[in-house]
Amino acid sequence: MLAFWFRIPLWQRVIAALLLGILAGVFLKEDATAIKWIGDFFISAIKMLVVPLIFLSIVSGVAAIGDLKKLGSVGWRALLLFVVTGQIAVWLGLGLGSLFQPGAGLDTSGIERGEAPEPKETSAIDMILSIVPESPVQVMADAQVLPLIVFALLIGIGIVMAREEGKPLARIFDSGAIVMQKVTILVMELTPFGVFALIAWVVGTLGLPSLVALGKLVALNYGGCLLIILVMYSLVIKGLAKLPVVDFFRGIVDAQVVAYSTASSNATLPVTLRCTQRNLGVSRPTSSFVVSLGATVNMDGTAMYLGLATLFGAQIFGVDLTMGDYFLISILATLGSVGAAGIPGAGLVMMTLVFGAVGVPLETIAFVAGVDRIMDMMRTATNVTGDAAVTTAVASMTGEIDREEMISADDV
Ligand code: ASP
Repeated sequence: MLAFWFRIPLWQRVIAALLLGILAGVFLKEDATAIKWIGDFFISAIKMLVVPLIFLSIVSGVAAIGDLKKLGSVGWRALLLFVVTGQIAVWLGLGLGSLFQPGAGLDTSGIERGEAPEPKETSAIDMILSIVPESPVQVMADAQVLPLIVFALLIGIGIVMAREEGKPLARIFDSGAIVMQKVTILVMELTPFGVFALIAWVVGTLGLPSLVALGKLVALNYGGCLLIILVMYSLVIKGLAKLPVVDFFRGIVDAQVVAYSTASSNATLPVTLRCTQRNLGVSRPTSSFVVSLGATVNMDGTAMYLGLATLFGAQIFGVDLTMGDYFLISILATLGSVGAAGIPGAGLVMMTLVFGAVGVPLETIAFVAGVDRIMDMMRTATNVTGDAAVTTAVASMTGEIDREEMISADDV
């Protein structure tokens, strides 16, 4: 029985749970609240991962950038492109969320607002002060993500500065990051149960209009990701890599398919490497470095989604956001996408980071978790395409690409 359960791919179990959960919600109505605790259990397990996952992946990511000097011109170009495309992606998510208002008009008075954080009036000076962690331990205990990220960045920089002597610590953090990814995969095994309970609760308490709102969110997630892939990355390939866009997409289709079905940039890494080297003609050192770095720090699909989901949460719970909040979201969503590991559900974990800072109730996570997997698949395909696009552009700018190889890649 157990063997049979695990033989079914996780995403299929999740989709089945989603459909069954909707049915359960329709039949059980308000009574579905009785099973919500299963969803809460799932969400608590996700929250448990936030602090160690962000801390370890940022420290080990920054320590890896220590090799930047070795790769000089490749490294800074890649980082610049990661940041610029990430920012554009978040603002796209914010734009789509404001324009189409996926969460507007839904009556959520039936949902208890658990630990909804109050939006704080903060001046610019308060904000600057709040990013310095007075006590790193306190910051971790309270899961204050922004000072945590600052602390992690500093530790990473310290490791790089310590050179040889910093290496043992870097290895420990690397190993910690890998262990946390495995723990996340374990937690993700709870997804079918969490999804079933949460979607049944949402549909049961709010009725079918909740499905319409979630449907709009999913559609916008797909629309936003497609815009990123078809417009932004095409421009990167045409404008910076100066290569035929069609050949680029033909070259990376394998990686996109694997990314879509596994919802994991990390799991796709070997295929992305193969596509960039064999089909796009990028040199081995450049592709190994940029693709591996990108798999953890470059997640434009996730960044776009974090912006979109924050607006969705604000809309369903009637939270007013100021222009200052939008800027805060843009920074946090970019950092969140950097801190997110390339594994299934990482974007869901990062939501607590952004929501908490702008006063969007964390209940939003329970609301959207039921449909996250479907969106995660598209986000991951986008993230992986972005890694390949930036790698190709940087390789082209630094003469690390064999154009003949790319153009003649007929066996793609
Ligand atoms: N699963 C995504 C990835 O691996 C991250 C996310 O959840 O958005 O790229």
